[in-house]
Amino acid sequence: MLFWKKEKKEEKPAAANKTFLDFLKDARTEMEGLMAQDKDWFYHLPYKGAMSKETAKDLEIEKRAIWRRVIYDARRTKLPGLRWETRGDELVCPDCQKMDGRIFLLEEYDTLNQTVMHLGCRCNLVSVRE
Ligand SMILES: [Zn+2]
Repeated sequence: MLFWKKEKKEEKPAAANKTFLDFLKDARTEMEGLMAQDKDWFYHLPYKGAMSKETAKDLEIEKRAIWRRVIYDARRTKLPGLRWETRGDELVCPDCQKMDGRIFLLEEYDTLNQTVMHLGCRCNLVSVRE
């Protein structure tokens, strides 16, 4: 009887196997929304240089995809925590400065995932093992 019940249990392979392309697709959508909110986003970036607007856009999308995947993987592997790290320089925005060093525990990953990474954010999420 128990064995039969176990057999009936459904697996969700699609949710368990999100590829990086899925993250990139979602990140692109998120990026389009952020760009719509700030038409001059490119001129507000804290990093400068000979970067074209297209390159900056691709970088911002990739950064977002990586950020989301880090949270996703942390949740999947039940990593104890993730620490928010800024670059620690004068270009860090006040909002990110407030988050610097903050540790999000396993049960807070959903909250963390709801945080919108602003355009030009250069922060990282670092694994906390214990
Ligand atoms: Zn930041």
